[in-house]
Amino acid sequence: MPMNNKNFRKQAHQMVDWMADYLENIEQYPVKSQSQPGEIIAQLEEAPPTKGEPMSAIVEDFKKTIIPGMTHWQHPNFHAYFPANGSYPSILAEMLTATMGAQCMVWDTSPAAAELEERVMQWLQKMMGIPKDWVGVIQDTASTATLAALLTAREAAFDFVINKTGYHLPEKLRVYCSTETHSSIDKAVKIAGMGSKNLVKVGVDDTLAMNVAHLEQAIKNDIENDHKPLCVVATIGTTGTTAIDPIKAIAEVCNKYKVWLHIDAAYAGTALVLEEYRWMIEGMEGADSFVFNPHKWMFTNFDCSVYFVKNKKQLLNTFEILPEYLKTTVDQQVNNYRDWGIPLGRRFRALKLWFVIRNFGVSGIQQRIREHIAMAQDLKSVIEAHPTFEVLAPVHLNMICFRSVNAENNQLALNEHNKKLNETLNNSGKVYLTHTKINGNYCLRMHIGQTYVRKTHVDKAWKLIQKIANEV
Ligand SMILES: *Cc1c(COP(=O)(O)O)cnc(C)c1O
Repeated sequence: MPMNNKNFRKQAHQMVDWMADYLENIEQYPVKSQSQPGEIIAQLEEAPPTKGEPMSAIVEDFKKTIIPGMTHWQHPNFHAYFPANGSYPSILAEMLTATMGAQCMVWDTSPAAAELEERVMQWLQKMMGIPKDWVGVIQDTASTATLAALLTAREAAFDFVINKTGYHLPEKLRVYCSTETHSSIDKAVKIAGMGSKNLVKVGVDDTLAMNVAHLEQAIKNDIENDHKPLCVVATIGTTGTTAIDPIKAIAEVCNKYKVWLHIDAAYAGTALVLEEYRWMIEGMEGADSFVFNPHKWMFTNFDCSVYFVKNKKQLLNTFEILPEYLKTTVDQQVNNYRDWGIPLGRRFRALKLWFVIRNFGVSGIQQRIREHIAMAQDLKSVIEAHPTFEVLAPVHLNMICFRSVNAENNQLALNEHNKKLNETLNNSGKVYLTHTKINGNYCLRMHIGQTYVRKTHVDKAWKLIQKIANEV
């Protein structure tokens, strides 16, 4: 039963009403889906329909079957993982993007997409204090950007010959990151052919930031063993605890041994819109590449990751391909973003970022980020002052790692108690938190960074946490 334009218009109007209702009433849904494994698939027809069905039936099933199996990431009490924030202007841009359905691989396939991307990258560069001579490009995820960084580091170190000949040299290519680094680095060294055995995990100090003396020692050892130190990945805002690696000191080591420095700021990068957090990238001129995800904390719907590089030519030399069927008459004058990363095809992601930055304004984004950080800092003080709770890692930004000590005072019992606390909280449907372990201690991770979170939500969550910690 294919739709015509008239039905589409009617259905779309109804759906926009549903969308506005959904966001207005989102607190009535359980944050984390309460669905059990297999429960959703059992409700889905085993065979695809032979004849087309009316949209009304499809939408009914969406509400009845799909919604209960969704975790509501836009719920203000979503404090799990890192956020994947949407916002009204971002949703509207996504509607337009889907409607135009453009595939923006080269300038010719949509000049506005290429030129808007170029301009929005320059805006972000100014908003965040990224060095002026760097250039940016949108990628799907930070994982992809980090893989691009490793591949570019490899090509730049060997004069772009490995792309042609493959890697045959005896020395091993070594990559360094801290023990707290995100798993996307482990994945990237596997895909890029360095091998996970050549990813050196450097120890951390008591703030869980990379120990630079240990990094330098690891590089020296590798040189003595005839290995080739290729790349260091430093993190601003680790996933476990938002620890911040010291970029300036790491950059000095990298420059001394001519090693590529990639900065992974996937989550915390957004805080660079605030002058008072620019210290986090002090020394960045000495790095080579940088990634952050507007799709986490900058109110731009997933997916949208931004990758900045110091040397555009190295990036293009690594990825450029020019088969006859992709040549155009303007190749010398424009950015063809297909050559700036791994996939050929590209979604028009710059539009939602443009809508968000214009509709919030830089000061609107700054204000919201400041509020998130202030709410987290306030809660941190409350938790620290509480007799049966403790904070287990520095709270640099808006994520708090804490645990209840309302149980027998040994690690095993405390871990069990906090695990139970976390599960009970999530099963309540009222809040959603995830966990990590710090020095073997199970702790709850709570970021206060959802687009719609306000103080009332934080207060409500904290009350519930105290109540359940007493009960479990
Ligand atoms: C979330 C995260 C990533 C991975 O981001 P994707 O965009 O999902 O690939 C990488 N590094 C850090 C520090 C992160 O927090």
